[in-house]
Amino acid sequence: MSKVLYEKDIQKEVLQERTVAIVGYGSQGHAHAQNMRESGYHVIIGLRPGKSQKKAEADGFEVLSVADAVKKADVIMVLLPDELQPAVYEESIKANLKEGNALAFAHGFNVHFSQVVPPDNVDVFLVAPKGPGHIVRREFENGSGVPSLYGVYQDVTGNCREIALAYAQGIGSARAGILETSYQEETETDLFGEQAVLCGGMTSLVKAGFETLTNAGYQPEVAYFECLHEMKMIVDLMYEGGLENVRYSISDTAQWGDFVSGSRVINDETKERMQEILEEIQSGEFAKGWILENQANRPEYNAINAREKNLQVEQIGKELRELMPFVKKPLQQEEQNKEQ
Ligand code: NDP
Ligand code: MG
Ligand code: MG
Repeated sequence: MSKVLYEKDIQKEVLQERTVAIVGYGSQGHAHAQNMRESGYHVIIGLRPGKSQKKAEADGFEVLSVADAVKKADVIMVLLPDELQPAVYEESIKANLKEGNALAFAHGFNVHFSQVVPPDNVDVFLVAPKGPGHIVRREFENGSGVPSLYGVYQDVTGNCREIALAYAQGIGSARAGILETSYQEETETDLFGEQAVLCGGMTSLVKAGFETLTNAGYQPEVAYFECLHEMKMIVDLMYEGGLENVRYSISDTAQWGDFVSGSRVINDETKERMQEILEEIQSGEFAKGWILENQANRPEYNAINAREKNLQVEQIGKELRELMPFVKKPLQQEEQNKEQ
């Protein structure tokens, strides 16, 4: 088994003497900044004027322009949306990096696909939490953490690995486990996971199941409970104890159905398509498509996004969740309520 690192493996001193600039204060940014500060590190924030700037100031941080934050810091963690990083890097980060600084990212996309080319006199590392930003914060507040991958792309100071590990500790990941990776491995597996399994695979599975039932004339409410609402309970069981724990809890009839039907839904043909998806990620074809889509102002992304919002599973879900006050409110709604 690969070596998983915990608190005892971390040398906090290497980062305690340095100033950390977090660039961006969104999903990951707000979580990294607050967790790092509470772990005893000196954090400043780099932002443009706007909503995030106000939020970071209200949370008690020193907020500077991206250029000034980079000038003032020793370690710069870039937590902007991936598609905006190259432009902000060229405009405000590159010229302000000093020899021996460390430049860091939470996802390898831009460095791996050459959209950001760091100078050769700075350390470059990666700390990628394996969870959404709001959970990185929530788990830290609960006294636990989200596991992270760390990777060294370029070590000029000889300290890059230790700094990366201290950073991962700072956001709470040493409580949950830190695992070494490379920019290539993190980028390719992260993209594959979100496309084939976690996001693309899962939403398509839910939609296909829901549509099969409603097309056959069953009530959409029943189809919603069956194909979407119950998903969380099954996933919780899997998270806690793997497939065995799911099968321990479900009925033998459900387990027999799992055995005889699951592999007909996800079969060798599906795996071939997963292989194709993986190859498009590895070759850079997916990255190129996404970069061009952004350069064209996202025509396809916006069209699909609008269509998806109107799906029956989404409409019925909204109505049903209103009737289930115990279902936790979506993060977006929670934040809007807080602002009012
Ligand atoms: P968000 O979209 O949530 O946050 C974007 C932040 O960047 C906002 O604070 C925004 O501020 C700021 N910003 C946008 N444009 C500029 C600009 N031109 N100058 C200065 N600030 C700007 O990003 P995420 O947290 O989702 O993603 C950050 C990184 O983390 C990405 O590399 C992503 O791949 C990675 N990651 C994300 C995960 C997640 O859970 N979301 C999981 C693991 C990794 P404003 O309010 O002004 O727009
Ligand atoms: Mg991911
Ligand atoms: Mg990702």
